[in-house]
Amino acid sequence: MDTGFFVAWIEAAARAVAADRERLTELDAAIGDADHGINLDRGFTAAREALAADPPATPGRALTLTGTTLIRKVGGASGPLYGTVFRQMGTALGPAAAATPDALADAVAAAVAGVERLGGAREGDKTMVDALAPASRALSGAVRAGTAIEEALDAAVAAAEDGARAAIPLRARKGRASYLGDRGIGHEDPGAASSVLLLAALRQAARG
Ligand code: ADP
Ligand code: MG
Ligand code: MG
Repeated sequence: MDTGFFVAWIEAAARAVAADRERLTELDAAIGDADHGINLDRGFTAAREALAADPPATPGRALTLTGTTLIRKVGGASGPLYGTVFRQMGTALGPAAAATPDALADAVAAAVAGVERLGGAREGDKTMVDALAPASRALSGAVRAGTAIEEALDAAVAAAEDGARAAIPLRARKGRASYLGDRGIGHEDPGAASSVLLLAALRQAARG
């Protein structure tokens, strides 16, 4: 997977976030402050523009530039967290001209570890971690088993969807939704929903 692959991922992510902007914002209206779709649309639009203005030479640089732009433009809780996702991935991929499936899986694992470190959330706290962590495990497991990257990413997306769904009946222990206590039970976490979109965009890039 070369630099063009990762730029295609960010472009697909920007399209998906724009298309689901209202849905993400409505999820956040129920258990947060009604800005998640707006925040991410602003951030991914800026990331796409940054990649066009300063074409990256490597996958690592594409992801680092994306992460830095998200931190600058998204704000709130998800800006630094998604910024960390992409910056950790960029660091993990280093200066290589292309990423192997193993390297991609390791980069996603590093991203999840970075989010957990920064936000202090664990699985079951009803955050984006509930989608990202199982997706990372599914991706690593499939890649280690020799599964083609397209199918490995199918498994990752399915695991993220399952994780986001499994968090619906939980009570949030991190982020704004945690202020609601039991009143957040029964609602889908907006960050878990957007993480599913980002992983689906990655799969879309892999399918060309
Ligand atoms: P804000 O809550 O600041 O308005 P957003 O609405 O953009 O930020 O993002 C909210 C999402 O961020 C939540 O749905 C949740 O998934 C995620 N989130 C919030 N706090 C944390 C945390 N400490 N760790 C992991 N994810 C978090
Ligand atoms: Mg919000
Ligand atoms: Mg906010």
